[in-house]
Amino acid sequence: TIRTRFAPSPTGLLHVGNARAALFNFLFARHHGGEFLLRIEDTDKERSTQRAVDVIFDGLSWMGITPDAEPVFQSARQDRHTEVALELLEKGMAYRCYCTPEELTAMREKAMAEKRPPRYDGTWRDRDPSEAPEGAPFVVRLKAPREGETIIHDLVQGDVRVANIEMDDLIILRSDGTPTYLHAVVVDDHDMAITHVMRGDDHLTNTFRQAMIYRAMGWDLPHFAHLPLIHGPDGAKLSKRHGAQSVVEFREEGYLPEALCNYLLRLGWGHGDAEVLSREEQIKLFDLDGVGRSPSRMDYVKLAHLNGVWMRQADDTRLTTDVMERLEGREGVVCNDKTRARIQAMMSGLKERAKTLVELTENAAFAGFTLPLTFTPKAEKLLGDEGRNVLAGIGKDLAALDIFTPEAIDGVLRAYAEKHEMKLGSVAQPLRAAMTGSTTSPGIDLTLSALGQDEVLARIASVLG
Ligand code: GLU
Repeated sequence: TIRTRFAPSPTGLLHVGNARAALFNFLFARHHGGEFLLRIEDTDKERSTQRAVDVIFDGLSWMGITPDAEPVFQSARQDRHTEVALELLEKGMAYRCYCTPEELTAMREKAMAEKRPPRYDGTWRDRDPSEAPEGAPFVVRLKAPREGETIIHDLVQGDVRVANIEMDDLIILRSDGTPTYLHAVVVDDHDMAITHVMRGDDHLTNTFRQAMIYRAMGWDLPHFAHLPLIHGPDGAKLSKRHGAQSVVEFREEGYLPEALCNYLLRLGWGHGDAEVLSREEQIKLFDLDGVGRSPSRMDYVKLAHLNGVWMRQADDTRLTTDVMERLEGREGVVCNDKTRARIQAMMSGLKERAKTLVELTENAAFAGFTLPLTFTPKAEKLLGDEGRNVLAGIGKDLAALDIFTPEAIDGVLRAYAEKHEMKLGSVAQPLRAAMTGSTTSPGIDLTLSALGQDEVLARIASVLG
């Protein structure tokens, strides 16, 4: 069976590039009825705090990317990494290197002076360890092949090759006995029976080195798929100045996980013109043929558009809950059940007009405003003598209503407009200003009905003073 994994290092954030790798691994496994595993590469003790690990768990769970087994912590497997390194030593596939830091520096400087790439020269490769000073510290290096080439049949990049002479004898155990990262990854992927390794193409050079460890152990290589990186809209490395880069940031900026996943999928993978894909469709359609080879450019405008599409499909109660959380604690806004009910009642109209949850929240906030409202200059203008006249008149008609449904309200507004030979908009606009303090809101009938009769009359009275 097919087994994939996502193997993030806990850095404190979940970068979109990594999030996309997680998504691809997850979809690929699901598509093939295989398993998707999670491995936390937490060997850097300084950075791997519980908080940094939680960022990964939370981010994945928010995106609906769920592993099929308990996560593996790389740090817990150190003994096993060491065991394999010692096995390689025993087999003569690795050796102890006693070079001192000074010797290594001299080696580097010599290579540079001769304009050669600075590489380990193999001093201890064939030297007898008994020649080393008693008790001297050593690292364990892999005896890498010097002839021939290493070819990776990458499922995205095609065949990529490197001449073995280009690579030096990589360290697998440090002098303090800890395994190196490259070595640990190979041992873990082997032990977890990973069949497909999909990760950012910045790991491609590591792959050649990892392949050497697999071969030295006589293990089968997994399939590799190196995914092109995500760049900024201008083609430069994605950075802060472009916009959000981590899952937490996208979440805070008001993107739905469905939209972010949909976007990240479409960003590096295509299937005809299909733009909006449900998770089921994603699983059904995902394959590696559709993954492009060139770096993708993050398009925030397109993401926002897609987010709007997903918001309009989203459940009103869920959106209301999110908006309420974002409003919590805001000055001048009451966050109680009444506010919640009002927002929920007009959510169908609100979500037509917003591209992010942040925008949605801004547009919904008036539902909880305390009186008197503050008015934007445009709204202020609508509430001059003429506007106040309309409010006074329409206020009486609205007060006379027994039921306060959008239909009933619409009837009242139309009748008023007809009677006074006004356009419907000229009646609606001062009302909108009086209700929201601004000039935008969902349809006025829906808005008034959601606020409820008492509140509408109170807001009118508050303007009329
Ligand atoms: N831990 C590595 C990273 O976060 C990924 C290693 C891998 O996927 O092999 O970049």
